[in-house]
Amino acid sequence: MTHPTIALAQALIARESVTPEDAGCQQMMQSHLSKAGFEHEILVFEDTTNMWSRRGDKSPVFCFAGHTDVVPAGDLSLWKTPPFEPVIKDGVLYGRGAADMKGSLAAMLVATERFVKDYPDHKGSIAYLITSDEEGPFINGTTRVIDTLEARNEKIDMCIVGEPSSSLQLADIVKNGRRGSISAKLTFHGKQGHVAYPDHVTNPIHLAMPVLAELSQIHWDNGNEYFPETSFQLTNIEGGTGALNVVPQTVTAWFNLRYSTELTDAIIVERVESILKQHGVKYDIEWTYNGKPFITEPGSLVNSVQKAIETVVGKEASLSTSGGTSDGRFIAPTGAQVIELGPVNKTIHQVNECVSCDDLITLTDIYYQSLVNALT
Ligand SMILES: [Zn+2]
Repeated sequence: MTHPTIALAQALIARESVTPEDAGCQQMMQSHLSKAGFEHEILVFEDTTNMWSRRGDKSPVFCFAGHTDVVPAGDLSLWKTPPFEPVIKDGVLYGRGAADMKGSLAAMLVATERFVKDYPDHKGSIAYLITSDEEGPFINGTTRVIDTLEARNEKIDMCIVGEPSSSLQLADIVKNGRRGSISAKLTFHGKQGHVAYPDHVTNPIHLAMPVLAELSQIHWDNGNEYFPETSFQLTNIEGGTGALNVVPQTVTAWFNLRYSTELTDAIIVERVESILKQHGVKYDIEWTYNGKPFITEPGSLVNSVQKAIETVVGKEASLSTSGGTSDGRFIAPTGAQVIELGPVNKTIHQVNECVSCDDLITLTDIYYQSLVNALT
């Protein structure tokens, strides 16, 4: 017989929930959770469907968080089997979302059903915070559900985000934080003119070069126990008319910083702008704040999850803050302990995305054991 986690993962993959579509995935999750005593709140914001489901009204609140949306399939001709028709071959489940993150959603649900059956009088509450826009612009998803919860002072104490955190083997890595990310578009203003008349032009390329050289050489910090040192990267530079005898009017540079908890976005903005002022250049800068860094120090959640991994797979997981941003960044600022634990991320967002069936079954056991450790 097919393991319930695999059967549920297949049913979720079969729904074509390309971001921000949910395609009925959350309803399917709710019908499982209802039988386990959960109550649901469906929060639709614009094009995004979110759900907040909860069993119990006590603290601590142990929350599973994740998303039902997936990235587009991409070039269909490169898929060996259709992306929304899940197929198991040699113990591997193929389909869009198999690893990111419908497999995790299935594992959470089956773990929760089993836990509630074994421990109907568990401590605290169990909750689900699920969105359909994690892969999209993340405006109407987790962040707005968190706003709703904060407005009525409803708190999450511990949260497992089911993002595919594992690198080479299941549960080799648990993410206990993420770096912050901030981007900027910086335009230098000069005066356009003929190269043969230097007195009549102000060359914005010449203005930009020393500033960009200085910015790219800043040693921002040394990182800390959990974070590598902050990195500044120029990503694009645009300027020039294409003609070889014209000094352009403007030059625009784009850059991004991935930063540790040693810095804040305010410190970064202030330092960059003070360098610009020192150089006395005419400029415009537009900042984009992609997410603040967060860290969950070892405590009740990290202990529960690490112990669960040790019990189930007999190995110690390492803690890491590597990788891009995730919805954890919206949950952590409320004071919640947040970690990410999910399957191997080798094929996520690729064609022929896949996950090992055994891994999903083991992940179910790890989630189950984490609940046992945290709530009994
Ligand atoms: Zn994901």
